[in-house]
Amino acid sequence: MYPDTPSPSSRSHELSIPDQILALEKLAQIDAQLKELEDQLAQERSTLDGLKSGIAKFDDRLGTDRSALAAMDKTRGELIQDVRNMNQQLDHSRDKLGRSRTERESNAAQRELEELRKLVRDREDEIGKLTADADAARQQIESTEAEHKKLADELAAREGDISSKLSEVDGLAKRKRVERDAAVKALPAQLYRRYDMIRAKRGTAIAQTTDGTCKACHMSLPPQLFHRLRREPILEQCPSCHRLIYFVPPSSVGTDASSERG
Ligand SMILES: [Zn+2]
Repeated sequence: MYPDTPSPSSRSHELSIPDQILALEKLAQIDAQLKELEDQLAQERSTLDGLKSGIAKFDDRLGTDRSALAAMDKTRGELIQDVRNMNQQLDHSRDKLGRSRTERESNAAQRELEELRKLVRDREDEIGKLTADADAARQQIESTEAEHKKLADELAAREGDISSKLSEVDGLAKRKRVERDAAVKALPAQLYRRYDMIRAKRGTAIAQTTDGTCKACHMSLPPQLFHRLRREPILEQCPSCHRLIYFVPPSSVGTDASSERG
């Protein structure tokens, strides 16, 4: 660790503008690499989280569906027992009918039989519905189990790779952050604060101009500003995107050699 310099502004005077630009370019490059690494980390993590939350969702659904099925099976068992009891009562009522001596007794036994038969029919209807519902629930559970297994297999197959990728990229990002700290120390403190504030808002903080337009936001610069930027090495801010802007002669752009002027 460097001890804190009492007046960081004195350091800024030591660094010429072209050196400040170089230091900014280096920092911007590190930040771009760091962003790429962090994007990779986020992507790997979201793949992993996606698989895990998908599995958790299927677990939840299976829990709900299995307890619903258990409740249906229980009710169905109770209804089947009811029907058995009623059939015994029916036998009993038939005996009663056979033993009846008066018309009144016979009518009463007949009514009892009819009521019991109706109750049995109602129970059997319910049992039929419950059987169909339980079969559908069982099919649903089977297909959820298959989807669950698919995801769990995918997680098992990929988790190792993703974890090692994560720790690899994480290590790279940590080293890059150390590199960044050093690059930040090379800059005048005030310039770095401006840089970082713009970067927080815009994603990137520096821009070049070669032909009078800002290469970052593609807006035309006021002619006077462009004139000053071109005359001597200075750092300004683009009036449109507020990025730190400086002039780069066409020859050093390379891809834009056709517009080169002497
Ligand atoms: Zn701009």
